[in-house]
Amino acid sequence: MALRELKVCLLGDTGVGKSSIVWRFVEDSFDPNINPTIGASFMTKTVQYQNELHKFLIWDTAGQERFRALAPMYYRGSAAAIIVYDITKEETFSTLKNWVRELRQHGPPNIVVAIAGNKCDLIDVREVMERDAKDYADSIHAIFVETSAKNAININELFIEISHLHPQRG
Ligand code: GDP
Repeated sequence: MALRELKVCLLGDTGVGKSSIVWRFVEDSFDPNINPTIGASFMTKTVQYQNELHKFLIWDTAGQERFRALAPMYYRGSAAAIIVYDITKEETFSTLKNWVRELRQHGPPNIVVAIAGNKCDLIDVREVMERDAKDYADSIHAIFVETSAKNAININELFIEISHLHPQRG
């Protein structure tokens, strides 16, 4: 069976749920007391889609300002970047736009960009409209989903979409 390897990095502000998304995808669990990522952590998960094995090499980066200078080490060579914001915090959506700009300027030319509006279980305190985020994602040709690492909404779907956009074989 064909095996494809995809390096994926997660970018976005601290607290938006990057580690929780990775944890949900890799372990299918949610830890409300998850430790803040220091620097970056690395996890892999291999999934079978149809007749192919997809091995995701996932780099979860820290959003803190002092680690931003390290980000290029993670997005260089990545097939995809998942940029995460928190739907309950408008400012995290603004930060996301800076990441998109940086990736377009300094990232790999064909990198797949996926935008994840996380914590979609918290609709009562929503600050970012789904429509606005979707329109923005469309304008930059990015994948877009609202996710909940807590309630396991659209996490697997996000990774499946990424893998479908990357047809080269490893
Ligand atoms: P990171 O700094 O971006 O890696 O964010 P974390 O994964 O550490 O999550 C930050 C906080 O948000 C933690 O308290 C998580 O429990 C919480 N969190 C993460 N994802 C979700 C979600 O989908 N829904 C809700 N309600 N809380 C979440």
